[in-house]
Amino acid sequence: MKYVDEYRDPRAVRELADAINRMDVSRSCLMEVCGTHTMSIARYGLRELVAARAALISGPGCPVCVTAQEDIDWFLEAARLPGIIAATFGDMMRVPGSHSNLEQERARGADVRVVYSPADAVELARRNPDRQVVFFGVGFETTAPAVAMSVLEAKADSLANYTVFSAHKLIPPALKALVAAPELAVNGFILPGHVSVILGSKPYEFVAREHRVPCVIAGFEPVDVLQAVRMLLAQIADERAEVEIAYGRAVMPDGNPRARAVVGEVFDVADARWRGLGEVAGSGLSFNVAHRDFDARARFDVSPPPAVEPAGCRCGEVLRGVLAPEQCALFGERCTPRDPVGPCMVSSEGSCAARHRYARA
Ligand code: SF4
Ligand code: SF4
Repeated sequence: MKYVDEYRDPRAVRELADAINRMDVSRSCLMEVCGTHTMSIARYGLRELVAARAALISGPGCPVCVTAQEDIDWFLEAARLPGIIAATFGDMMRVPGSHSNLEQERARGADVRVVYSPADAVELARRNPDRQVVFFGVGFETTAPAVAMSVLEAKADSLANYTVFSAHKLIPPALKALVAAPELAVNGFILPGHVSVILGSKPYEFVAREHRVPCVIAGFEPVDVLQAVRMLLAQIADERAEVEIAYGRAVMPDGNPRARAVVGEVFDVADARWRGLGEVAGSGLSFNVAHRDFDARARFDVSPPPAVEPAGCRCGEVLRGVLAPEQCALFGERCTPRDPVGPCMVSSEGSCAARHRYARA
């Protein structure tokens, strides 16, 4: 297949789903760890199509949703400091902190700007030499290279008014935390496509080798996702546990070493807090000594009060895959995309938003 239409062809989808449902394997629980997969599964009704053989559940796949409440509170407080321009991707604007969100802070007078890339934030710093630009660095392995590049660019230009609040997250350590949790019985992982373009397949091998959980890296179209489901079920049927690539048109086993090198030039691997998973060892990125000047945490004296999660919100359990969005009492009633309570309903890639948007009667 060469064109995107072929990966969306309803007949190909139906044939694959039928082939899956005919497989001689007991029903398995498969988790996707990518927000775009979550969207694709909801949008094309894939969960229902393969329900006879697979229970598709969502994991911590959306970088916005997994950002810890404390980190959102930190950024909200920093945005209120005098002289600050707070720069962020648009999908963070309505994510609730303990007491407000960035949209509300902007309405109250904070200078919050939506940028489309970290390079835009550097440009803001260049144009506003008497202000401090703080960029909210949220994202997985996919986003981190562009953020690292922005830091190198600011350094090359000797910009002293650009910093990043690094809330980046790394996927393999989160998988480790998930497979180690006794509450979750996942039989296979549908692994993220974009993240794997950077990482390749090797960093996931421990999941298959040490935990005996099959993994397949998938693309984002419905045929891609169903191919991954079929490959996972085939591994389960054969009692194999391997990392396979169903997205060969974009992912190489070694990933993109140059992108990883840029990240390594600026950041060290550090422990990080995740919504739902708590503190996960080695799952974040902090500035290395040579680039500490660009670390917003070090530059600004900000210490928000202890974080408070929204009352009744069960995003943490949704992100761990132990609760389906509809099982949250607030789903679709008190919590909707128009008036969201938790981040999983705010972010376009959030499990609750995807489920709500494409809910089938
Ligand atoms: S960054 Fe890419 S891989 Fe990660 S959640 Fe978003 S779409 Fe999926
Ligand atoms: S329905 Fe709303 S409150 Fe409940 S888990 Fe989802 S986002 Fe959180």
